Amino acid sequence: MKLNGKTVLVTGASRGIGKGIAQKLAKEGANIAFTYVSSVEKANAFEAELIASGVKAKGYQSNAADFSEAEKLVDEIVKEFGSLDVLVNNAGITKDTLLMRMSEQQWDDVLDTNLKSAFAMTKAAMKPMMKAKAGSIINITSIVGIVGGAGQANYAASKAGMIGLTKSVAKEIGSRNIRCNAIAPGFIETEMTEVLGDDIKQEWIKTIPLKRGGKPEDVANCVLFLACDDSAYISGQTINVCGGMVM
Ligand code: NAP
Repeated sequence: MKLNGKTVLVTGASRGIGKGIAQKLAKEGANIAFTYVSSVEKANAFEAELIASGVKAKGYQSNAADFSEAEKLVDEIVKEFGSLDVLVNNAGITKDTLLMRMSEQQWDDVLDTNLKSAFAMTKAAMKPMMKAKAGSIINITSIVGIVGGAGQANYAASKAGMIGLTKSVAKEIGSRNIRCNAIAPGFIETEMTEVLGDDIKQEWIKTIPLKRGGKPEDVANCVLFLACDDSAYISGQTINVCGGMVM
């Protein structure tokens, strides 16, 4: 097992990609702390599922958009689990609309949840990682942060910001043996993409060389690689998990 006894924090893991990541890393022996914001029942059921699989696990209701919650959360996790070895900044939302119709609130909500949260969580997680002289931070960005998206200026800006954050963090704390990388998923089948109509989905799939949407597990496999020592000499990178859609 590649992560035996390690403590991993995955933000936004009550469903979708975050849940797939937590399941994958738990199978490799990691103890899992995860957050959610509103899905209390799903989160409780998932916590029980992880514990039944034989690892330590706890779900925390914590709003990623609230800067002040990050430090408290990390302190609680270190107290409960004894360490924090891997941070996966996954929590994210979309509020899509054309820029000319986009409100300040829609901009702020997406930037706060997707980007400011990664800043707050990284800043908080760095402390126990620096003490341990080891750590891996993985930011879930998007190919939209690389190529842009009509109707997604707020989302694209937040995800492009995560890539800049990733590279800067890698430069700042690489000397402390803490790595920071990003994963840019393409079209992954979750509740986030379920809202798109079938026509739009089919159009997307036509543009993907591998001719299918991705699954949370496709992203989780890449997270596992970046979380464990197999990627010990990789930092500051963005890996696209998009079926070849963006090259
Ligand atoms: P999803 O199915 O909508 O799930 C989002 C998760 O984030 C849920 O667990 C949700 O918790 C949590 N969350 C949302 N707002 C939060 C907040 N303020 N604080 C804490 N947790 C919060 O989304 P997904 O498709 O799995 O996406 C996960 C990540 O991958 C996002 O960052 C997204 O931008 C990125 N991504 C997704 C795709 C895709 O095609 N799906 C592509 C590229 C990148 P609740 O259940 O409590 O709401």
